[in-house]
Amino acid sequence: MRYSAFGLIKEALSGHKGWRPQWRDAAPQAAYDYVIIGGGGHGLATAYYLAKEFGGARIAVLEKGWIGGGNVGRNTTIIRSNYLLDGNEPFYEFSLKLWENLEQDLNYNAMVSQRGILNLIHSDAQRDAARRRGNAMILNGSDAELLDADGVRAMYPFLNFDDARFPIKGGLLHRRGGTVRHDAVAWGYARGADLRGVDIIQNCEVTGLRIESGKVLGVETSRGYIGAGKVGVSVAGNSSRLMALADMRLPIESHVLQAFVSEGLKPFIPGVITYGAGHFYCSQSDKGGLVFGGDIDMYNSYAQRGNLPVVEDVVESGISLIPALGRARLLRSWGGIMDMSMDGSPFIDKTHIEGLYFNGGWCYGGFKATPAAGYCFAHLLKTDRPHETATAYRLDRFMSGHMIDEKGQGAQPNLH
Ligand SMILES: Cc1cc2nc3c(=O)[nH]c(=O)nc-3n(C[C@H](O)[C@H](O)[C@H](O)COP(=O)(O)OP(=O)(O)OC[C@H]3O[C@@H](n4cnc5c(N)ncnc54)[C@H](O)[C@@H]3O)c2cc1C
Repeated sequence: MRYSAFGLIKEALSGHKGWRPQWRDAAPQAAYDYVIIGGGGHGLATAYYLAKEFGGARIAVLEKGWIGGGNVGRNTTIIRSNYLLDGNEPFYEFSLKLWENLEQDLNYNAMVSQRGILNLIHSDAQRDAARRRGNAMILNGSDAELLDADGVRAMYPFLNFDDARFPIKGGLLHRRGGTVRHDAVAWGYARGADLRGVDIIQNCEVTGLRIESGKVLGVETSRGYIGAGKVGVSVAGNSSRLMALADMRLPIESHVLQAFVSEGLKPFIPGVITYGAGHFYCSQSDKGGLVFGGDIDMYNSYAQRGNLPVVEDVVESGISLIPALGRARLLRSWGGIMDMSMDGSPFIDKTHIEGLYFNGGWCYGGFKATPAAGYCFAHLLKTDRPHETATAYRLDRFMSGHMIDEKGQGAQPNLH
């Protein structure tokens, strides 16, 4: 079913009886050419691009819970292409370009909103670093503007500019960054993949990998054994547990990251703001709630819920940047399990086991990567070669010393 204004009017006039489920409730088949483990944004995007761009074949996505129940439906919805290093920026720029055409491609309203991201600057050293980052972004085809304090004041007059400890001295503005409705991304990719024949199988947990003579043959699941030509793993915060089924130990730790939403307020934050002196970033949803987050919980956990000390830390940072926040009521908060790699950068790579491929280590920045991670993982699964924008995301980089040490782009375990 294609969506159109005409279809919407027709359904509105006929009691909305003609809408069909967005994807089939597929039953597992005995075997597939490709089995993707994890029905988050990355797994679904991988299946979609495998089916659309790389020539079909029999594809299944296995999800232990329900589509959108993982981090893809738990994040703070920020997308951006504002990285510094060559290993990263071309990839995130590719991703942003895919976001810019996503709704047309999927025929699905994902509420892609390029409302701009402003990284605040509080010292001369930060300004130097921001200038360098901005230049790297522009060289890679992205956009960046360095603002002085007056430039920031014109956009966000309510910030705490003259805080004695962390005065705001300017900001790096990335106008093409913004937000996207997170769960709609999962639903849009699921629908697009289903339309191209992908079996999306929910409530199907992978409990084992059948490996013989160094080759993967299939997966054991809560719904029986499923044979597979190739297996792609995209399970975000559960990466270490899943790859342990293949006796692999990853350079990844799992930590909880929390998100927060305030009561609905009149629109006053037009874009996304990130604090350069505390753990806090914030945007305002179309319903008026302030959507914000901060640091990860410090100790390892697979529990999908947060802890109070981090709530205090994030709210404290928020109020030091936006004093008016002190009067807003917090409505909701939740946690998601992050797959934190040791250099803060991800992996999209083959493993030493033939037919087993891994996508993970996205730390708390994998939502913005969803389209490119899906595309590049599909490329790898199909061709056995990395996509040109993802050549640095190798599993062996800690042995060879080719870390992608992207500082200032989010927390990572080795900084705590
Ligand atoms: C609070 C919070 C805020 C964030 N904010 C941002 C942000 O603003 N911008 C940004 O870019 N990123 C952000 N992120 C990070 C981003 O959400 C993740 O990096 C990204 O969503 C991970 O990829 P995914 O969507 O495929 O993960 P998920 O949606 O978690 O998908 C993985 C799926 O694998 C399934 N699974 C696990 N084990 C098995 C198994 N054994 N068998 C079958 N299925 C299994 C899980 O149930 C899950 O559905 C945030 C994350 C959180 C938690």
